[in-house]
Amino acid sequence: LGSSLRGSLNKLQGKSRLSKEDVEEIVKEIQRSLLQADVEVALVMDLSKSIKKRALEEEPPGGTTARDHILKIVYEEMVELVGDSTEIPLEPQTIMLAGLQGSGKTTTAAKMAWWFSKKGLRPAVIQTDTFRPGAYDQAKQMCERAEVEFYGDPDEEDPVKIAREGMEATDDADVHIVDTAGRHALESDLIDEIEEIEEAVNPELNLLVLDAAIGQGAKKQAQEFDNSIGIGGVVITKLDGTAKGGGALTAVNETGSSISFLGTGETVQDIERFEPNGFISRLLGMGDLKQLSERVERAMAETQAEDEDWNPEDIMKGSFTLKDMKRQMDAMNKMGPLDQIMDMIPGLGGGLMDQLPDDAMDVTQNRMRSFEVIMDSMTESEMENPRSIGASQIRRISQGSGKDEETIRELLEQHKMMERTLKQFGSMGDGDMKRMMKKLENQGGGGGMGGMGG
Ligand code: GDP
Ligand code: MG
Repeated sequence: LGSSLRGSLNKLQGKSRLSKEDVEEIVKEIQRSLLQADVEVALVMDLSKSIKKRALEEEPPGGTTARDHILKIVYEEMVELVGDSTEIPLEPQTIMLAGLQGSGKTTTAAKMAWWFSKKGLRPAVIQTDTFRPGAYDQAKQMCERAEVEFYGDPDEEDPVKIAREGMEATDDADVHIVDTAGRHALESDLIDEIEEIEEAVNPELNLLVLDAAIGQGAKKQAQEFDNSIGIGGVVITKLDGTAKGGGALTAVNETGSSISFLGTGETVQDIERFEPNGFISRLLGMGDLKQLSERVERAMAETQAEDEDWNPEDIMKGSFTLKDMKRQMDAMNKMGPLDQIMDMIPGLGGGLMDQLPDDAMDVTQNRMRSFEVIMDSMTESEMENPRSIGASQIRRISQGSGKDEETIRELLEQHKMMERTLKQFGSMGDGDMKRMMKKLENQGGGGGMGGMGG
């Protein structure tokens, strides 16, 4: 959670009941996060009211702490706010994309086609944008990258005709994704045009594509597109940037629809199905748990593939060598900055993070790189037995790696500290550590405890 929200939640530790002030404080932090994420004020106020009411009126189930009680309510109300994912059946259908110029329609069309192709369907993209120079080439190239069928006609000026002919030309495809032109504003001829294309292709689903940075502009767009063609779902693009996409909730609310896909980058694979959990985490500033678990999984799979006999459980049994440390660092490098990862694991928020010595977290990417260079200059037995490394070895390693002796000592210190920390956690019994390990295991990587060391 956002650090201040986390702070407020942490204050509840040890409490079994919520006071009015506790609830006020937490709601205020949530409001701050959501408004910052561009969620409409009216929606934020509705949410706040429900959270306050429930938190103060509902009796926490026996044994529930005040903190867990409010977290559960916040989560449930947030799920209510963001809604479920738009149902996308894996069967033949036509989907039309609408939205303003630059919102990400063409990119999304290719991404969705790629997504459907991975699900075993045969998609085709039909490009009807005759307005924007280069639209044809852009769509064609992206579809080539996605290895999906594409139809467009750079010499034809009538988008409705392209749409009609495109449907015929791609008759053997299962899923037709119709990309449309979006001009810089909601001009009436754009609306007329999209209505005509709609008639020509008769889509099962119209998706409104919104840039995550849309903010309150979402309202008018959503209304107009909904009135003209009917919007069955929303796509939020560019979520890889700083914008959190809260404005899209307004569009969802206005159209009575739901979020279908998220765009998280410029390449065709950068598409995710909307999933409330991750999106909520993002809105609240906690990072995306789903993304984390996929990243952890990928990094662990890669690390383990490189080193088959690595068993993370050995580390828990107390042996933690420099080799283990290096593996942790490799995995970390593949996952991203440590504190961010720690932040993404729910339940870790307050407790565990606060118990770690500050500099356990202080292995910056640069330091990690130096450490790796140093480790490359160590012998196998030094890696296995860091305690055997004395002054003369340090001198030799320094010469071999081109790093100064001080950095090598830092590395050895860091290793010792990680080892100590691990032992400490190992003896924590059924505390946070076990919970964390279990979580990471479920997400596919017991070695995720690299999260602590690296
Ligand atoms: P259209 O005008 O609605 O068809 O929008 P485009 O698909 O042409 O996208 C406009 C710009 O946004 C292009 O430069 C895309 O590469 C970029 N873009 C689209 N989706 C994403 C995304 O999810 N992440 C990022 N970083 N860029 C995106
Ligand atoms: Mg386009």
